[in-house]
Amino acid sequence: MEELNFLKEKIELKAKYDVIVIGGGTAGSIAGIAAARLGAKTLIIEKEGALGGTSTLGLVTPMMPVKMKGNPDSSAINKELKKILYKKGYGAADQQGNDGWFNPEMLKFTLEETYLAAGGRLLYDTSLIKPIVKDNQIKALLVHNKEGITAYQADIFIDGTGDADLAYLAGVPCQRGKEEAKYQALSLRFQISNIDLKKFANFLIEQGQDWGLDYPLLETAMVWGQGFALENIFQKALTAGDIDFEDGKYFQAFSVPGMPGTISFNCPEIPGEKDSLNPTDLTYARIKGREMMQRLYKFFKKYFPGFSDSYLATQAELVGVRESRRIVGQYLLDKADYLERRKFADAIASSGYPIDIHGEQLEIKALQPGEYYQIPFRTLLPKNITNLLVIGRAISTTFNAQSAIRIQPICRATGEAAGIAAAFAIARKKSPQQIKGREVKEKMLSWGADI
Ligand SMILES: Cc1cc2nc3c(=O)[nH]c(=O)nc-3n(C[C@H](O)[C@H](O)[C@H](O)COP(=O)(O)OP(=O)(O)OC[C@H]3O[C@@H](n4cnc5c(N)ncnc54)[C@H](O)[C@@H]3O)c2cc1C
Repeated sequence: MEELNFLKEKIELKAKYDVIVIGGGTAGSIAGIAAARLGAKTLIIEKEGALGGTSTLGLVTPMMPVKMKGNPDSSAINKELKKILYKKGYGAADQQGNDGWFNPEMLKFTLEETYLAAGGRLLYDTSLIKPIVKDNQIKALLVHNKEGITAYQADIFIDGTGDADLAYLAGVPCQRGKEEAKYQALSLRFQISNIDLKKFANFLIEQGQDWGLDYPLLETAMVWGQGFALENIFQKALTAGDIDFEDGKYFQAFSVPGMPGTISFNCPEIPGEKDSLNPTDLTYARIKGREMMQRLYKFFKKYFPGFSDSYLATQAELVGVRESRRIVGQYLLDKADYLERRKFADAIASSGYPIDIHGEQLEIKALQPGEYYQIPFRTLLPKNITNLLVIGRAISTTFNAQSAIRIQPICRATGEAAGIAAAFAIARKKSPQQIKGREVKEKMLSWGADI
């Protein structure tokens, strides 16, 4: 047994890889696919039991469109995954041009099969404890699972934890929330099945809703005071004591392709300013979320036609975290980049998705048709650790910029870029910092990305 002697006790070194992706979520699963396809010996370490993270285990569906003509995909792998899901009836496009509707259960299969077919290796049910860092390099990861504490080594690491757990523990400077410590709202999503969607769609029309009714792709929403058609019904239920005010703070619902009669709810939104990195707050979010979920379900059954035979089918495994740690990397994407619609030679993604701070009605110079901004490769690179890339919602951005780039198609593009850069670095015996972002972009374009 080979051993590492970094700690007082001896820790078993389980294996060595070229690339380790910690966190196989929205971005991490794509990073793994990209690195493995380019021949890097790749391991994804994931604390849960499936790939996809927030997009599967958090039940966050559909993908938001990037609000550019034709909804271009900055990630070629995203394009490919969408095609696979469409073919099987588990993905769909609506008439408003969003082709990002997907079935989260089927995405779990698709991600796993695609990654394994690329030659990648997987380790589920395993959490990061800490990295061993020496000379500005991560030498190994200590992880925990049923075997206890063990170690894994790699030449290059990709942090796909969404919370920059690895980067933070390796000493990369990180920021949180706004300066006044305001965090984006947490949610705990859920799904209800056996709904008569046709009946419900007709009810929405009767209430005066004239959007989101591309049956069977249905969408509806209600936020107090914003003129939504369902506000009267929520008000009635509030007056009758069937819901609390907090239940209507943010309500949004989408049907799910390949799950007839099922609606996925982008709520309940957990009241109060909760910190997603505080286990007590996270526990509160789960308990409070479940309480609100049950109240909402009873309310739907009583007030929404089509719900009489429905049942509460699924609760999200992951608390919905919109924003937590963000690294301060080689480029800090800021509000100014958004306002000036800045483009970059090393762009790895393009988007027209606006600054979107949940719970705030805030219009920061909305993008006009044809306008877009880009995300440079350097936002994935920490300044101080040379063999690490950070992806997903934790890349180097300010609070405002993060609220725009956190959507799934952009997270996936960061994963694809990081996987390519890591594989290039392995092949050339260089660090990811020495790989030119322009080359990464060229590779993404050659795979069919639209950046
Ligand atoms: C409630 C909510 C609604 C949203 N709505 C939309 C929407 O409608 N459309 C859209 O496009 N985007 C939406 N978003 C944003 C988007 O879904 C997320 O920003 C994106 O999925 C984050 O991707 P990620 O790869 O950074 O993190 P994740 O997908 O969360 O992946 C992180 C992965 O790392 C794993 N992990 C974490 N820590 C460790 C550890 N220490 N050890 C091992 N593994 C670890 C996790 O289990 C997870 O699998 C929403 C987000 C939320 C929370």
